[in-house]
Amino acid sequence: MATIHDMDEVEMFFRERRIERDLLRGLRNDFYKKHLDCHIAVQRLPEEWRAPFRLTFPFHPLTLAECQESRQDGTTKLVLSTGDGELVETVVLRMSSGRTSLCLSTQIGCAAGCVFCATGKLGLRRNLEASEILDQLALANRLLAAEGRRLRNVMFMGMGEPFHNLDAVEEAIAVMLSPACFAMSPRRLLISTFGIPDTFVSFAQAHPQVRLALSLHSARQEIRARLMPVAARHSLADLREAILEAGRIQGQDTMLEYAMLAGVNDTQESLGALMAFVRGLPAWVNLIEYNPLGREDGLQGSEEKAFVMFEEELKQAGIWVTRRRSLGRGIDAACGQLARATRAGERGRATTRDAGAVRDRGR
Ligand code: SF4
Repeated sequence: MATIHDMDEVEMFFRERRIERDLLRGLRNDFYKKHLDCHIAVQRLPEEWRAPFRLTFPFHPLTLAECQESRQDGTTKLVLSTGDGELVETVVLRMSSGRTSLCLSTQIGCAAGCVFCATGKLGLRRNLEASEILDQLALANRLLAAEGRRLRNVMFMGMGEPFHNLDAVEEAIAVMLSPACFAMSPRRLLISTFGIPDTFVSFAQAHPQVRLALSLHSARQEIRARLMPVAARHSLADLREAILEAGRIQGQDTMLEYAMLAGVNDTQESLGALMAFVRGLPAWVNLIEYNPLGREDGLQGSEEKAFVMFEEELKQAGIWVTRRRSLGRGIDAACGQLARATRAGERGRATTRDAGAVRDRGR
């Protein structure tokens, strides 16, 4: 089914009915750039075409099912339901720097089965449509516009593996970048993948400015295979080659995500393997605090001294390293956790705003 994001079909609707093109520009500006309610945006159209247009091109394929806010760090997690009753998560991150980012999902569940990931435990239920990916952005924009904030970055880092749903991801990116629609800069988009070497390189070729992140989590094949069984079908040597090639094509560095897990990948041996992997690569390391809240995987986050050891030794080796706080500690903030809790009829432990309140504020 077509939606407002199907750019060609929308334009054809206007052409066939000889509706002035300026009205389409105004409608898109209202919806994509001013984040106004769809009822208001369609007022741009001649009255006789408003209802047919909305019927032909729904604006919101998703509806808000639940919203959790963390009082501790300003994170908002939205659970959105699809037309077929599935649940999708998207997370708004309000950084202390004042920047606002969105972490959006590309699949319902995920086939990769990473042991530390709640989404992996769902298995793959289905791919999201491009319009469902885009609606996460549209709804987050609405929420933030009501707060006087603007989204700066969009990270494809939520539920699912983006390269397992590449057609829809690329379709969504086209609408995000289109000057007529969201008009985002490609440098504000980040795709996080567990790494399929050929796809990593071809994506870099097709999108030379979109940033890439690779979920590494261990540079020791046997440990990576235990943590990420599907990802580890690809050898670390092939991944290294792909990162090198992507760097040559894009002229920018890949972020290597590394969730620090006590006794698993935070030992001196693991650090040595990580340094050997990264040395000479156009890449930097992002150490992630693991959030064990509500998890059943038996894994624990590393202690501070392990972080200090990794940070100091990586820096000494001339490798750029950053550290990501685990945002959303007061809510079910690991990917897939909130959707699972909502599906199971549990409620969040932090502030749970009811969906109607958000809708009222956001629309
Ligand atoms: S970490 Fe990413 S790739 Fe792994 S199971 Fe979770 S969503 Fe899938």
